[in-house]
Amino acid sequence: MFNLSYTTKVAIKIAILYAVALICVPLWFIYTEPSIGEVIFWFVLAAFVSRIANVGYHRWLTHKQFEPSWLGRKLMLWFMVMTAEAPPGHYVVSHLQHHANTDKEGDPHGPKQIGFWRLFWGRYDEVKPRVGFLRYYSKQKDAQFVTKHYWGLYLANWIVFALISKWLVVWLAFMFAWSWIWFLVINWGGHGGRKGEPTDLNWFCNIFMGGEDYHKAHHEKPGRLVYGKWDTTGKYLVPWFLAK
Ligand SMILES: [Zn+2]
Ligand SMILES: [Zn+2]
Repeated sequence: MFNLSYTTKVAIKIAILYAVALICVPLWFIYTEPSIGEVIFWFVLAAFVSRIANVGYHRWLTHKQFEPSWLGRKLMLWFMVMTAEAPPGHYVVSHLQHHANTDKEGDPHGPKQIGFWRLFWGRYDEVKPRVGFLRYYSKQKDAQFVTKHYWGLYLANWIVFALISKWLVVWLAFMFAWSWIWFLVINWGGHGGRKGEPTDLNWFCNIFMGGEDYHKAHHEKPGRLVYGKWDTTGKYLVPWFLAK
């Protein structure tokens, strides 16, 4: 499309979805005058979808921390489409590079390497994927299908939502904005910012990240499902709802 580089397209996506969220969420409050219950409902649902999507990207496809059930994998794939974060295969490639070359050359988004604003705009360093890395992902045919048709699927989902209500489209933009905040927290804060070393975050982050906040522990043992005592995702969410 228009010969733009991949990172430029990513930056445009971030700008559009943040603009929609920042302008239209206040409009939602003005026009629909939601009750406090409705506000909580849509917020919790967005946070929940975002969390499940993150489990799909990170714990399932990248690190193979568990084998999902049929329903679990379809749910994770659908939610990954909804958040608009990235095609799953792209996440897997860059995140494996991040683990292989943490905070040094070859880390696509080490904060020491690229700084905050490049991280914010999703402008990663280009990395050359190493052969042999993608053995697990290469067997997940449904995830590859979603990767290949990611933006087509996003559009299809967007159209269905728009037909139901224009506010659902705003909710989708909010969900991306929310997911991206935590993407920044983990990849900036979880690496000590400019210091550039894996760092555990605090209890406040844990409320929203449900275990991903143990980022130092995760780097030490990437394949382990439960990262720490308060890893509610690894302890409950995955075994109860997503794993086989
Ligand atoms: Zn990391
Ligand atoms: Zn990881």
